[in-house]
Amino acid sequence: MKTLVINCGSSSLKYQLIDMSTEESMVQGLVERIGIEGSLLTQKVEGREKYIIKTEIKDHKDAIRLVLGALIDEKYGVIKSMDEIAAVGHRVVHGGEKYSESVVLTEEVLKSVEECNALAPLHNPPNIIGIKACMELMPNVPMVGVFDTAFHQTMPKEAYICPLPYELYENYGIRKYGFHGTSHKYVSNKLAEVMGRDIKDLKIVTCHLGNGCSLAAVKGGKSIDTSMGFTPLAGVMMGTRSGSIDPSVIGFLINEKGYTMQEVDELLNKKSGVLGISGVSSDFRDVRDAAEQGNERAKLALDVFHYKVRAQIAAYAGVMGGIDAIVFTAGIGENSSLTRKESLKGLEFLGFELDNERNEIRGEIQEISTDNSRVKIYVIPTNEELMIARDTVELINNM
Ligand code: ADP
Repeated sequence: MKTLVINCGSSSLKYQLIDMSTEESMVQGLVERIGIEGSLLTQKVEGREKYIIKTEIKDHKDAIRLVLGALIDEKYGVIKSMDEIAAVGHRVVHGGEKYSESVVLTEEVLKSVEECNALAPLHNPPNIIGIKACMELMPNVPMVGVFDTAFHQTMPKEAYICPLPYELYENYGIRKYGFHGTSHKYVSNKLAEVMGRDIKDLKIVTCHLGNGCSLAAVKGGKSIDTSMGFTPLAGVMMGTRSGSIDPSVIGFLINEKGYTMQEVDELLNKKSGVLGISGVSSDFRDVRDAAEQGNERAKLALDVFHYKVRAQIAAYAGVMGGIDAIVFTAGIGENSSLTRKESLKGLEFLGFELDNERNEIRGEIQEISTDNSRVKIYVIPTNEELMIARDTVELINNM
């Protein structure tokens, strides 16, 4: 069963075709600059040269038409006809309180998914446009929506209710939702598998550290808390996002310093975090290099970042009454031995011992604690696409 996984953003679209008999990804592709001058598609198949198409891509329907063409291309494609695509799994950022699990997408379901748009105005609308375009071009192929928020719907009320007037929750749905759920679910389950343990017996802190960063407390296989909130702006500091700060800063900037709300929004989402403090870049590698060359603000940015992650790990170990394992994933978590080391510094009292030599690995599944360590530390590369494909196949098979 070949499953197409689509992650549709406002001007970009990532895709993979996964052969679910082996769970191998057959092809990975990216369409960029949809609706903007200079649009292009790049498709990668292992062992072959990259396939790049530069052409006008007016909208998402155009983009998906191009993707389907690239998949069946005689020279660069991986399948003979579109009939080989058994199902499509779509990433949807926000499923609100309604979706605690993935769902088969019908016209009717799509309408209720659209009701979640108000909660994620930047993210959900492009996801839905992508779904609609696929439905039009592949009317007979079953489709599934997989939500970033779903895994966190198991959080207890004490974790997700904001200390604001309760009516704001009742009337507007203002609460913590959490994001990166597909990733937290994947790495926590993979960890249990690698450890040879039943996930029901484990207390895990999962650290998804990429451009966006979030941590989750996963107890018995369920998310009981996570650091992102009503939107993906909350929690630990990120590449360009501030993470949680005193909300009074916003009023101060607007009332005392003449900022507009739009400027503040831009500042918190795009100009803060690692970029904001360092003044160098949002890319962790650039900031690390600058710090190594003596740039004090770059060093400070890393220090603040590691401090935030460390404090969050400790908090989740606290609410779970101890931990059995910590997992690092995503671009920084999988690749940066420095971040893993610094984020764990001082937390040895939780019961782990980091193995500095093992910690030097990059991008592969590896235990990085010592054999004697009671609490285990792992690096586990995330695979959100596979998780989406798995959910898709499971739901389609049960239809
Ligand atoms: P996204 O959240 O957009 O999926 P990624 O998970 O790809 O992002 O993470 C991107 C981040 O990972 C960037 O800050 C990048 O600098 C960092 N990163 C990638 N490779 C390395 C590396 N070898 N060492 C340190 N950081 C890395």
